[in-house]
Amino acid sequence: MLIVMKTTATERDVQEVIARAEQFGFATRRVAGAERSTVSVLGSPLPDALREALERLPGVEEVIRISKRYKLASREFHPEDTVIRVGDVEIGGTEVVIIAGPCSVESEEQIIETARAMKAAGASMLRGGAFKPRTSPYDFRGLGVEGLQLLAKARAETGLPIVTEVLSVADLDVVAEYADVLQIGARNTQNFLLLEAVGKTDKPVLLKRGMSTLIEEWLLAAEYIMAQGNERVILCERGIRTFETATRNTLDLSAVPVVKRLSHLPIIVDPSHGTGKWYLVPSMMLAAVAAGADGLIVEVHPNPDQALSDGAQSLTFENFSAAMPKLARVAEAVGRTVRTPLAELAAD
Ligand code: PEP
Ligand code: MN
Repeated sequence: MLIVMKTTATERDVQEVIARAEQFGFATRRVAGAERSTVSVLGSPLPDALREALERLPGVEEVIRISKRYKLASREFHPEDTVIRVGDVEIGGTEVVIIAGPCSVESEEQIIETARAMKAAGASMLRGGAFKPRTSPYDFRGLGVEGLQLLAKARAETGLPIVTEVLSVADLDVVAEYADVLQIGARNTQNFLLLEAVGKTDKPVLLKRGMSTLIEEWLLAAEYIMAQGNERVILCERGIRTFETATRNTLDLSAVPVVKRLSHLPIIVDPSHGTGKWYLVPSMMLAAVAAGADGLIVEVHPNPDQALSDGAQSLTFENFSAAMPKLARVAEAVGRTVRTPLAELAAD
């Protein structure tokens, strides 16, 4: 942290800055410039309270943060990309990983049929919500534990690892018993107690970006999980709230290269919640891979018109399958492969 003194600052003002930083337990280095002095405070990450205390001092012009507020999630101290292994799937390497399935698990037939179709189309993991966050309490809120059991059946049937949301600390043990990847939804991105609780498990965590969350806040949310010892965090951009109403959310694809620059963690994209409209999903799947995403999570339903949640943004099996060969070609153009046999897709 660099403290820039006012041109009018006195020696006493500088000494006050040094004393305050030392009170917080941090060493300082002073640099006398031609017009003004600066003091660097050594240490990372430095607490916000120190920055605020220094900003209040009379001789201080500006406090400039040099290091990031997050450390474990930052590329600063971890330059290589992190690759997260789920079964035999690797997220964050050269392969682009596709996670697909319904918004909610609705019945045995629905989830098994979808899992089989997703596997045949080239998806590597199955998604499906059992505990659903719904805006209205009167909407379908998921099958709960029965939904988890059905996901486990679909996994046994197809071998696809399962990604499912954990809504609250109270459900964590049971969700972790079944899930291969714990999803933290957009409404819980800054539920710090839930983040710490999943940080104490040994399951990879798919951390969605909140609908009004800055990238820095999102990476600090990842830091909450990692600080508890669980460093297997997969970030997921799923669209943010803007003034635009033509789409459900504004899918911030620029978050992908921004996150790649700031963090070593893998990042995937959810074009379903990102757009809210099934006919926009295939183009955003392609764009996300072109932007450098390590994977996609896509909602697919055997009969979107009858879906109990998010039907309007769910692809049919046919539409999902039709997007996969195109995705393979985009991946190839950016030096990646889709984790599924390219030859099979190319034959399409
Ligand atoms: C979901 O994946 O079905 C979901 C509820 O997503 P989000 O938290 O991004 O809204
Ligand atoms: Mn959904």
